[in-house]
Amino acid sequence: MGEAATALRGDLRRLVAENVPADFLGAFTDDPADLETAQGFCRVLAERGLLCLAWPEEYGGAGASVWEQTVVREEMWAHHEPRGAQYMGVNWVGPTIMRHGTAEQRSRHLPPIARGEVIWCQGFSEPDAGSDLASLRTAARRDGDGWRISGQKIWTSYATMAQWCFLLARTSKGERRQQGLTIFLVPMDAPGIEVRPIASMMGPHHLNEVFFSDLRVTGADVLGEVDRGWEVVQEVLSFERVGIARYARCERLLQAAPSVLGDRWDDLPDELRGRWARMLTHCRRARLLAYEVVAKQDKGTVRPADAAAYRIAVTKLDQDSADVLMEIVALAGPDGAQARRFRLQVEDHWRYSRASTVASGSIEMQQILLSRSLLAS
Ligand SMILES: Cc1cc2nc3c(=O)[nH]c(=O)nc-3n(C[C@H](O)[C@H](O)[C@H](O)COP(=O)(O)OP(=O)(O)OC[C@H]3O[C@@H](n4cnc5c(N)ncnc54)[C@H](O)[C@@H]3O)c2cc1C
Repeated sequence: MGEAATALRGDLRRLVAENVPADFLGAFTDDPADLETAQGFCRVLAERGLLCLAWPEEYGGAGASVWEQTVVREEMWAHHEPRGAQYMGVNWVGPTIMRHGTAEQRSRHLPPIARGEVIWCQGFSEPDAGSDLASLRTAARRDGDGWRISGQKIWTSYATMAQWCFLLARTSKGERRQQGLTIFLVPMDAPGIEVRPIASMMGPHHLNEVFFSDLRVTGADVLGEVDRGWEVVQEVLSFERVGIARYARCERLLQAAPSVLGDRWDDLPDELRGRWARMLTHCRRARLLAYEVVAKQDKGTVRPADAAAYRIAVTKLDQDSADVLMEIVALAGPDGAQARRFRLQVEDHWRYSRASTVASGSIEMQQILLSRSLLAS
C-alpha cells in the first residue's frame, strides 16, 4: 500500500492508544461511557481530516485514495470500531448522497457526517422482507407536495442513537417488485416514528424495531428518483458489504494469541495450533478479496457478485476464527490483566461473529448471487 499508508496506520494506532480505553469493546455495551468514547473519537478523527479521508475536499474529506480509507477501515475494525455507528455514514450513506443527492441534500447532510456529528441508521429489512427485500410493505403515499409513510422495519441497527434514517419504502406497484421503491432521508425525531430495542447478545443498543405511523415527509426528503430506489440500494449494499474489514480484527486477535498465552502456547494441541495457522492464511485470503473489490469500486466496475465473494470469505473467517480463538482461551485458561482483556475481546468477537452470516444479507443469499453470476459468465 506504500509508505503513506504505513505512516497513516501508525498515526491511527497512536490515536486509538491515546483516546480509546484499552478495555473498549465497542460503542454498544451497557456502559454509556462507551458511546461517549466513540462520539469523542469521531471528533478526534474529523479534526485531523481522518474520518472521511477519501471523500472529496469539497465535502469535508481529504481527497485521499481508497487505499488510505481502507487502512482506516482496517485499523478501526481491528480495535473494536471506536467510530461506533458512524462508520456507516462514512462508508455508504455519505457516498450515496454525494452520487444521488440534490445540491441541498449534499450541503445539508455531508458536512455533519464529515465532522463526526451524526449517526444514521438503515431502514430496509421488515418482518417479512429480509432476503426478499423487494417484498417490503412499508408504504409512502402522496400527500400534497409530500408523502405520508406507514409501516414497520426490523433489525435496524443503531436506531435508538441515530438522528437520521436511510429508509426504503414502496411508492407504487411496478410490473416487477423491484420497481416502485423509493429512498427517503428521514429525521428520527419526527413525530410518527417509534423505536423499540430488541435485546440481543450483541449489546442492548444494537438491534431495534422501528414503527412509522403516518410519518409526514416532504419531496425534498426523497433521495434520487421516485420509484427508482432499488438501483441505489444495490449500490449501497455493495459498499456496505465491503465496508467492514472483519478480517483485520480476526488477524489482530489471532496474532496476539501466542504472546498473550506465553509459555502455555506450547501446551496447546498441535491440531488446534494447526487450525490457528490455517485461520491466519484465511485472513490473508479474505484481505485480498477485499482489496480486489476496493480496486473495482475505485474504477467503478464492481459487481454485486464481487462483494458477495468477499462477504462469503470474510463472514466464514469471522466465525471459524472465533471458534478457534474460543478453544484457545478455554484450554489455556488465561489469567492476569492482559489475558483477561484478551478473553473478553475473544468472547465479544465470538458473539458478533454469530450474526455476521446474516447481517447485510445472509451467506446463503450471497452464495446464490455468486453462483448466478458464475453460471451466467
Ligand atoms: C446484526 C444484524 C444487523 C442488522 N442490521 C440491519 C440494519 O441496520 N438495517 C436493516 O435494514 N437490516 C438489518 N439487518 C437485517 C438483515 O439484513 C436480514 O436479517 C437479512 O437480510 C436476512 O433477512 P431475514 O432476517 O428476514 O431472514 P430470511 O430472509 O427470512 O432468511 C432466513 C433464512 O432463510 C434463508 N433463505 C431465505 N431465502 C432463501 C432462498 N431463496 N434460498 C436459500 N435460502 C434462503 C436465509 O439465507 C436465512 O438463512 C441486520 C441483521 C443482523 C443479524
